[in-house]
Amino acid sequence: MDSTTTAASGTGRGTTSNEGSGRRPAVAVLTSGGDAQGMNGVVRAVVRTAIGAGADVYAVYEGLQGLIDGGDAIQRFDWGSVGSIQHRGGTVIGTARSVEFRTREGRLKAAANLVQRGIDRLVVIGGDGSLSGADLFRAEWIGLLDELVESDRITPDLARRHSHLVIAGVVGSIDNDMVGTDMTVGADSALHRIIEAIDALSSTAASHQRSFVVEVMGRHCGYLALMSAIAGGADYVMIPENPPPPGWEDEMCERLRAGRAAGRRDSIVVVAEGARDRDGAPITSQGVRDMLEERLGEDTRVTILGHVQRGGAPSAYDRWMPTLVGHAAALEVLEAGPDHEPQLVGVRSNRVHLTPLMDAVEATREIPRLIDAGRYDEAMAMRGSSFTEMVRVFEGIAQVAPTDVAPSRRIAIMHAGGLAPGMNSAVRAAVRFGMSRGHTMLGVRGSFQGLIDAEIDELAWGDVDDWLAVGGAELGTGRSVPTVEQFYAVSRALENEKVDALLVIGGHRAYESLHRMLAERDRYPGFRIPAIALPTTIDNNLAGWEMTIGADTALNEIVSAVDRLKQSAKASRRCFVVEIMGRYCGFLSLVGAMSVGAEKVYLHENGVRLADLADDVEDMGRSFRAGRRFHLAIRNENASVGYTTEFLCQLFAEESGGAYDVRPMVLGHLQQGGNPTPFDRIHATRLAAYCVDWLSTQLDAGTHEWGFVGQRDGRLATLPFTRMPELVDPTFNRPRDQWWLALQPVMEAVAVDPTH
Ligand code: ADP
Repeated sequence: MDSTTTAASGTGRGTTSNEGSGRRPAVAVLTSGGDAQGMNGVVRAVVRTAIGAGADVYAVYEGLQGLIDGGDAIQRFDWGSVGSIQHRGGTVIGTARSVEFRTREGRLKAAANLVQRGIDRLVVIGGDGSLSGADLFRAEWIGLLDELVESDRITPDLARRHSHLVIAGVVGSIDNDMVGTDMTVGADSALHRIIEAIDALSSTAASHQRSFVVEVMGRHCGYLALMSAIAGGADYVMIPENPPPPGWEDEMCERLRAGRAAGRRDSIVVVAEGARDRDGAPITSQGVRDMLEERLGEDTRVTILGHVQRGGAPSAYDRWMPTLVGHAAALEVLEAGPDHEPQLVGVRSNRVHLTPLMDAVEATREIPRLIDAGRYDEAMAMRGSSFTEMVRVFEGIAQVAPTDVAPSRRIAIMHAGGLAPGMNSAVRAAVRFGMSRGHTMLGVRGSFQGLIDAEIDELAWGDVDDWLAVGGAELGTGRSVPTVEQFYAVSRALENEKVDALLVIGGHRAYESLHRMLAERDRYPGFRIPAIALPTTIDNNLAGWEMTIGADTALNEIVSAVDRLKQSAKASRRCFVVEIMGRYCGFLSLVGAMSVGAEKVYLHENGVRLADLADDVEDMGRSFRAGRRFHLAIRNENASVGYTTEFLCQLFAEESGGAYDVRPMVLGHLQQGGNPTPFDRIHATRLAAYCVDWLSTQLDAGTHEWGFVGQRDGRLATLPFTRMPELVDPTFNRPRDQWWLALQPVMEAVAVDPTH
């Protein structure tokens, strides 16, 4: 952790003038527009990366208005200024909306304040308004400096030395409304807040048989509404980009009635604040409530979540992703030449993704225009293919499947491998989506042994109603891989139960089992069916899929445990060595370390060397003597055979010279527990629907391929088991290519002060 000084305490604030130094690059960072959780993580990463790169760094308080106000609103920051801010909600450097910045006079003052400090590089964290304001400022910069020279407010030499303003933008917005990035900073945390609320409402609604209308933010963007409807198990959702069809009132009431008849105790309708009908008339949460009460005659309550969605601590994702983009944004402004087109620094598939800033802003602003013009299909297309896909998936699982069509095929669902939060969510989605496609869905209890013992039941729509939000595995799981001797029994069971297709939701053991069975497939008639594996494990050690179901929940469990640990250690000088799961895969350790602001991480992938440990002991001693109060080291459970967590603690304690004490902390099975996060629920649902679609296609075509969920060209795909040897390191059961290892330099750039 970073505990020497904090921005909020003001102790990190230093000089406010850099005029004349002019030789070192000077970077400023600000947060503007609506606040969002995770903005602090971006600020921290920008400040530390820029310091590490040898720049002077300034934070601008109160957004673009702070540029105009100057004085104390523009503060020199050091490494410690951004200590202990990553876990805090909102933005510690403040944000504001500035009318003055919309005027040239305001921007002239802003230019004077920056150039007088030698600042000509700026990272702006905000929404499309802030980013376009900053871009206008950049475009006017030369003209503004000329005016300042003419009025003798700056010297021609100063203007010459800072003749260009280089900017980069990062989107801080809970709405996830920006084109050019998969996720905006704050959107994941907002989903956490919404889902906490919907889970709480579900429990009270279920006790009284109530209906709730939940209004979430999103004037022009349905992301929060759609995703929270999926992750919260809602019955109906209204989003601005995809207004409901004419006659939706009847359809909605009918859907809610059918849900009740199928066993639901509560009904939930999610309404985005900008929802409208096909004619453009607003659909309000109150209007929906009145209609439900009148037509269904049932007690219906409205909950408008409002600013709760912006509040609370950032989720794990809103700690590591902001670190990644903040790091990249700092490098972007430091490395870009004067004529470089300003970029929006976002993410695509967990990697930094740059888009020309104003292209992204323009595309983002086009969507509300399309919605206003009633061009909904184009608005949806601009949200991207996964958004459209999720609308279809939601429709498939939210409606009670018709029971009057003769079921065609029998798909069995089972687990194998370790427990992972989100397993239940995947089963629920598979059952409902499968039923919507006319299949009979079977649940196998107790993994492969359960299959052999014929522990198989048909699962009805209502049976899985409350499985979405609960951790664990209602069907049970097991770690054993069927032996060749058991294949006959497995095959017989599949035949006896007339299983037409198999979905195995699990981890490494699920993959290994199917892979082995496939090798013997021709010998067993029961195996002549299509089969697919869906990746669930907290370890994130499966090939083909970059973030397995369960890993995000585990990261959030780690973050909340370590947040508490840090608080407990406030009063002493202490080093904690926290041991984290993951088997031989360091994903949870590295990304966990980034999320909690650890100083050091020990991974099996890197190995642990005695010489490195000696350096670590040196560094630790130095920083504690310099005033540090807390040092956090994260160790993957299998990082090293000999250098165990206990060994590291003894070594550090022995070498501390009494300057600090050392404690181990083994998080253990806590990491596998917990209810699945919105991200894990959403992806479990998405992957389950994909698997059912894939199996259905096989059944229609009469083929029986086997595979596991992966990606091809950025889209979901099924990879054949024949690729396992090429993709998996068999010694350590982890992918040969681990994308997240590229995050290591980012973690290092923000973890340890290079100037100490
Ligand atoms: P967001 O950044 O969240 O979209 P706003 O649209 O309110 O929030 O913009 C934040 C601030 O950005 C405004 O208060 C204003 O100072 C500045 N801004 C927005 N648009 C412009 C513009 N066209 N020219 C100059 N400044 C602008």
